[in-house]
Amino acid sequence: MLFPGVEENLAGRTKKAVQTWVSVLLVLVSLSGLVIWLECRPRERDRLTPQMAGARDTLIRVLLLHNVERFRVQITNELSLRDVGKGHSVSLKDLGHLHHIDIGLVRGRLTLAGHPIDVDHLEIHFGPPGIFSMEGERFRGQLEVIVDGAGTAFDVINHLPLEPYLAGVVGAEMPSYWEPEALKAQAIASRTYCLYIKERFGRHRSWDMSRTQAHQVYRGIAAESATVWDAVHATRGQILVTDGRDGTPIVLPTYYSSIWAGHTEDSNRVFGEASVVLRGVECWSCEDVAKATQFNWPEVIYSKQEVSQRLLARYPALRELGAVHEIVPIRQSEYDHFTRFTQVRLVGTTGRSSVLRAEDLRLAIDPSGRRIKSTGCRLEDRGEHWAFVQGRGWGHAVGMCQCGAQGLARAGLSVQDILVHYYPGARIGRRP
Ligand SMILES: [Zn+2]
Repeated sequence: MLFPGVEENLAGRTKKAVQTWVSVLLVLVSLSGLVIWLECRPRERDRLTPQMAGARDTLIRVLLLHNVERFRVQITNELSLRDVGKGHSVSLKDLGHLHHIDIGLVRGRLTLAGHPIDVDHLEIHFGPPGIFSMEGERFRGQLEVIVDGAGTAFDVINHLPLEPYLAGVVGAEMPSYWEPEALKAQAIASRTYCLYIKERFGRHRSWDMSRTQAHQVYRGIAAESATVWDAVHATRGQILVTDGRDGTPIVLPTYYSSIWAGHTEDSNRVFGEASVVLRGVECWSCEDVAKATQFNWPEVIYSKQEVSQRLLARYPALRELGAVHEIVPIRQSEYDHFTRFTQVRLVGTTGRSSVLRAEDLRLAIDPSGRRIKSTGCRLEDRGEHWAFVQGRGWGHAVGMCQCGAQGLARAGLSVQDILVHYYPGARIGRRP
């Protein structure tokens, strides 16, 4: 026996070593369990597209390609074609060995892999899991091809249920690593906006939504992720409504965009609509989220000649002005640190003048909206040029500020608080 104390100490050390090894083993076992569980958990993007069997009029119709003469669909799963006009299926014989089908147009009728088919309105159905690849992108749902009246081009439209459509929007409109409450706010705003546009404009045309910023960006499966699906599932069926005079809920036009940088704008000032007005509110929570060069963007310069050409190309009625030689903001909102103009008068060399919404001016000159990011700026006449200076924010400034929603979520606000801040007077209701 050495010193009793030492032996005890040794025994203690052995015991500790054994304990350590046991814990390491336990951690390893549970880690491998987690790995097995993660591996077995069906990944959302491989799951069946939900509710595909829903009533046709509840599907969202997204315009994927407009006025094209050909496109290519990969054949990855079972696929069937239907002639919508005649109401019967189109034979796919001789195509069994192909990996893709090229759909084109010859003399106003569609062709499949070069073979003419006597069809000008085609539906393409994809078997389980209801996913297809087209031009390098993957989408859920099915396709519709509609040849225009003149037989010179066709539109390609993706039909799919609302919730999987939203999964392809939320992750395209907002980084999927943002706060869960911000992603939920985006999901509810996007769901509401989609139903508003579908109801208001969809009934008069063969599609509901474009897939660009003109409406909201839709990237299909590439935009999906677990966090995005969580936000879509957690808010399933929820939309923003306001109560009409007789108490019936009205679906809000839930406009939103990137960065408002200080204050949002009343919707009727920007768009001139009056049925439902979204009120402007303060918005500073985007300052820490947005990039500094987007919150305050650098000076942008265009020659007067270019501005004139772009305006006349976009609005042929303005030709009576001759060339545009003066742009006068006639309606603007003054805030503590900046001014946002919402309406301008264009004065032409013929002496005539015309009034234009400031958003229309901005997007006519810069259709990408990436240079003149907003009308929260000053317009300077520099002789041969127009300069847009002291610019702030990005987007039309109506409704929800996406960077601001992230800022508020970081500060601990719930999805409901975030939405009520940007859409005062709104409440969360259920889709009709
Ligand atoms: Zn903001």
